[in-house]
Formats: sequence, C-alpha cells, structure tokens
Amino acid sequence: MMDAAALAFPWHGGRLSVNFTATLGKRGGARFERLREPADLARWFHEAGMVAHLLDVSAENLTEAQQLREALYDAFTAPGCELDVLNHWATQPAPAGRLEWTAGRITLQPPQTDVPGLLSVLARDGATLVSGPLADRIRECGREDCWLLFVDESRAGNRRWCSMETCGARTKMARYRAPATSPEAVPPGTSSRRASSEQVGQR
Ligand SMILES: [Zn+2]
Repeated sequence: MMDAAALAFPWHGGRLSVNFTATLGKRGGARFERLREPADLARWFHEAGMVAHLLDVSAENLTEAQQLREALYDAFTAPGCELDVLNHWATQPAPAGRLEWTAGRITLQPPQTDVPGLLSVLARDGATLVSGPLADRIRECGREDCWLLFVDESRAGNRRWCSMETCGARTKMARYRAPATSPEAVPPGTSSRRASSEQVGQR
C-alpha cells in the first residue's frame, strides 16, 4: 500500500513536461505509478494549472497519457530514442487560453479543452524543451534513490537536486553524519543524459 505522501505529485521539474515524467516514481528502482486511475490524471492536470476544473478522463486517455509520458522521458534522457509518440501529440491542434479582464488586470484563462488537447500541450512543451537552449540542462536529481528530472536554470548550471528542501537537505545531512563513508556519488555538473545512459539497462 503506497502512502499518500509518495503518491503526491512532485513539482520540482521547472517545466510542465518534465513534471509530467515525475508521475512515474522511483524510475531506477522500485517503480510505482502515481497515475493509477483516470481520476489521478484529471487531478494532475488540475494541480498543474492546465485546467480550471477536473476533466472527465477515460481509461484510454490515461493509457495515452502514460505512453506520452514515457516518450517524453525518453526524449529527455535517451539519445537516439524513438520520437513517433512525441511527434504524434506535438503535431495535434493545441488549445490556447483566452485573455480576460479580471479586476482591472488582463489574465490568461485556462483553455476549454479535453484530454487530447492537454496531451498536445504537454508534448509541445517537451518538444520545445528538447530542441531548445535548455536541452543540455535537463538533469536527473543527484540523490541516489530519487531519479526525478529537472531543468537546471541556474546561472552556473550546477544545480544538483530536484529540490534543495528535500533531496539537497537529506544528502547533506547524510554526508554530515558519515563524512568518511559518503563520497560524492555524482560529481557536480553530471548531466542526466550521461547518468541515464549508464542506467539504460535498468529502465
Ligand atoms: Zn530528488
């Protein structure tokens, strides 16, 4: 039985498409699915701010979303991977939000859309990321048993953890407790591409 904390969606990735890959937990270890039923996907879209209300999600929607998620993960981490699934969704019509006046300010309202429209938005976000200047900044968390991806937008390009508050703090604490037995597991600047190519056999 997974506890509720493990099933909560992580939001450390810095991009929608990267956060979406985090809906599969512990990728390099005891993998677990955070999108266990269609309602979980509806909740993810809502928590991500992509829709104002919970959408109706079908079992087919969920399967397609999981396929897109894995295609995104591959595009972020596996050089030479298949791009067909990502291309399929990235070339679908994407819904756009509407501008409205709200209390004297212009605000962007989430689009009225369905699940395929949202998958298209996710795919385009990923496609822009992997083909743009931040492609080399997609990294895997440096904590040994985390495996979350994030986009390193730090000026120096040396961000190591998905979250300073969780993985960063825990790693530092472990090193402090046992300084002689905790060598640096991942040198600063190690890219997720290199890390993941070493893990290809496990994935
Ligand atoms: Zn982490």
